[in-house]
Amino acid sequence: MTTTNRDAAVVVVGAGPVGLLNALGLARRGIPVIVLERHESVVRAPRAVVYHWATLEGLDRLGVLEPAVRAGFLKQDYCFWNWRTGEQVRYGLSVLDGQVAHPYNLHLGQDRLVDVILRIIADEALPVEVRWGREVIGLRNLEDRAVVTARRADGSPERFTADWVLGADGAGSAVRTLLGMPFEGFTWPERFVATDVVYPFEEEGYNQTTFLVDEVFGAIIVKIDNSDRGGLWRYTYSEPAELPADGVRDRMDGFFGTVLPRADRRSLAAYSPYKMHQRCAGAFRTNRVLLAGDAAHATNPTGGLGLTSGLFDTYYLVEALAGVVHGTLDDWVLDHYAHERRRVFKESVSPAATANKQLVFGSTETEAGSAAWERVRRLATDAEAARARLLFPQSLETPLPVG
Ligand SMILES: Cc1cc2nc3c(=O)[nH]c(=O)nc-3n(C[C@H](O)[C@H](O)[C@H](O)COP(=O)(O)OP(=O)(O)OC[C@H]3O[C@@H](n4cnc5c(N)ncnc54)[C@H](O)[C@@H]3O)c2cc1C
Repeated sequence: MTTTNRDAAVVVVGAGPVGLLNALGLARRGIPVIVLERHESVVRAPRAVVYHWATLEGLDRLGVLEPAVRAGFLKQDYCFWNWRTGEQVRYGLSVLDGQVAHPYNLHLGQDRLVDVILRIIADEALPVEVRWGREVIGLRNLEDRAVVTARRADGSPERFTADWVLGADGAGSAVRTLLGMPFEGFTWPERFVATDVVYPFEEEGYNQTTFLVDEVFGAIIVKIDNSDRGGLWRYTYSEPAELPADGVRDRMDGFFGTVLPRADRRSLAAYSPYKMHQRCAGAFRTNRVLLAGDAAHATNPTGGLGLTSGLFDTYYLVEALAGVVHGTLDDWVLDHYAHERRRVFKESVSPAATANKQLVFGSTETEAGSAAWERVRRLATDAEAARARLLFPQSLETPLPVG
């Protein structure tokens, strides 16, 4: 536990969903945490919306599921829509009814999940101190502790000493860089553009999660807001890398003019271009410093496996780190965390997300594309095929180190 010369037992770098969920889980187990976030408030850029059914049990254990469901909504339906042929394949999580505890996905913008976590921390007066406007710029990883240096908005430095430091500072992780850790893998040449758009998708036959399959107009289309205000969806498409990055907004109306032609019913609420990666840190633990979420592994978002992996990191790490801090678990559980979560990403998450991207943003007229489309077709007619695909996210979880 914390000794007198420590600022906290654990310092978490990054107040994204992974950093804050780890902080919440540790605090619920009686461990004081300081969270350092370089922004002055919650990051609102359009990113994760879909939480797979298999992640919901872990959110429930952390006491987050109920308020998260109140803030978002649950859904079961999926659609693959072949843009060129017009063929639509619909299937849903109802094939898991009676077989799993939560046979539905949660839809909620990740910034709103962060709001929910912060609200719980405040309402329950948990021992988490979030220091906004602190950019981590230095790290000393010692035998018995780690020291983090952050830069405040006025440029002055501030030091924090902890037994453990968790780098949950996203794909561009400063913690990972300060460790000198390689981020192995590759960056896709295309640019992804995530938009929040109001449009009458349901009137046009879209399901609440629809994959538009096409090598030019491929897109991931997901409903964000199910309230009466309604109508807000996340529409994520890709652009050739050769197009200039600063022309994204200028090209958008032309692009939407083809795929969402009812211009009078269409309005853009937000957008953000992204680079996409399949990358993984060389190790998720070095002595007193751990990595989780996008700081440890980054994937393209087709199929929603990015934060899913970060959540499964979190569920294991909270129990493992709490056990080590309290002296009830040996520190090998942290090595096991590092080894297993890295293995799952490399062997399962990244290949699946790569196949998802190639299907949605590829042609169905090539040999591989047409075989992939054949497998999609079976989802509507073969309940076993649908069940196998929908059970996949569960295989990404690491069994907890405690019963
Ligand atoms: C368009 C899009 C859609 C997506 N949709 C899904 C989806 O539906 N489902 C899904 O599972 N995943 C999805 N993802 C992936 C998901 O967004 C990420 O996996 C998720 O954000 C990872 O959370 P994190 O907390 O690890 O990192 P982040 O959300 O990146 O948070 C990191 C935090 O660290 C802070 N930080 C960075 N550097 C420093 C520093 N030096 N000092 C202090 N703080 C720092 C940042 O400001 C940020 O607040 C999507 C991604 C994109 C781009």
